[in-house]
Amino acid sequence: MSAVIGGGRTADTIHPKESLRSSWGLWTFALLVLMLQLSTLSLWIALVCATQSPALERFTFTEPHMGTIARIVLYAPDESSARKAAAKAFARIAELNLVMSDYNPNSELMRLCAKAGGEPVPIGADLYDVLEKSLAFAKLTDGALDITISPVVRLWRRAKRAREMPSEAEIKQALALVDFRNIKLDSQRRTAQLLVMGMLLDLGAIGKGYAADAALAVLRKHGFPRAMVALGGDIAVGDAPPNAKGWKVGIAPLKDPGENPTHYLLVTNAGVSTAGDAEQYAEIAGKRYSHIIDPKTGIGQIGRRSVTVIAPNATMSDALDTAVCVMGLDRGLKLIESLDGVAALCVFETKTKIVTAQSSRFARLLLTD
Ligand code: ADP
Ligand code: MG
Repeated sequence: MSAVIGGGRTADTIHPKESLRSSWGLWTFALLVLMLQLSTLSLWIALVCATQSPALERFTFTEPHMGTIARIVLYAPDESSARKAAAKAFARIAELNLVMSDYNPNSELMRLCAKAGGEPVPIGADLYDVLEKSLAFAKLTDGALDITISPVVRLWRRAKRAREMPSEAEIKQALALVDFRNIKLDSQRRTAQLLVMGMLLDLGAIGKGYAADAALAVLRKHGFPRAMVALGGDIAVGDAPPNAKGWKVGIAPLKDPGENPTHYLLVTNAGVSTAGDAEQYAEIAGKRYSHIIDPKTGIGQIGRRSVTVIAPNATMSDALDTAVCVMGLDRGLKLIESLDGVAALCVFETKTKIVTAQSSRFARLLLTD
């Protein structure tokens, strides 16, 4: 320190007493600085405590929706707020089912189909959005996902009940109504037009993922971003649970979905969907036909297939799991590799063996311990 103390003397020539006095000054100064720091520190501690949220607990709610079980898991400070938020999310799923169902003749989707071959029809924002996304995925998958597949799907539903194959003529007739390019959307007027009379739409391949995303958005909007919504095999996950890196999601084995999962994933802010014929198929004359149909042939997939897709959201994972089932291993995985933030695991049964293949990003999502 080169401070000048009294009468023009420099510090290095001062009297010991002075020096003592001067070091007392230093001690006082140091003490003052320490006290100041301590008080700032305690102020910080007080501030952090005031802003830190109370401990979050895990809550799970289930309700039947969209022909399956809807399951919501969320982290909340108390049960009452968790239950209220879950009720709003379930209500959103029910609302979307009234829009998208192809089982309910009064759904907005079926009311639109009733006007196939006619003028453009004004539709609500939700239906417009899901139709627009479906068409984007139809283009992306070169028509492997095609929501105009409904006439063929209905034929196979009937075949399943009757345990009798549809005839070639019936398949041909139904296929004549299948082409996603015959859906015209007008974003300005928010209308949809189905160009061919008899056309029918089926959102079964994308609707559950879409509804899971919408329900998760409701939970986030109400202040619960650490949440997960599962609609059967379609799962939307939000921010990670407290003190965890992500949500643990299990993938069931091909032959027995009730068995322990073969793989576990760790995911956040993503969609995870599994498509396949594990639960839904028609068995006719000893052959097993999946409820997933190739729009080019009109035939349900033969041989067991299970495709799990992980994507930035569940609308995308749901659309792609069905499409990859149709496209097959080579084309399907090539498509998955070309998409940012998307991964897949495919398990296909051939005549002689079970083939498992995964995209390059899949391993990174695996929980290894
Ligand atoms: P789930 O989760 O119910 O198994 P998927 O995502 O696997 O649903 O989609 C299967 C459903 O999609 C079928 O039940 C049918 O309604 C519809 N579907 C079948 N094949 C296609 C296709 N190629 N394009 C679009 N939708 C399809
Ligand atoms: Mg799907």
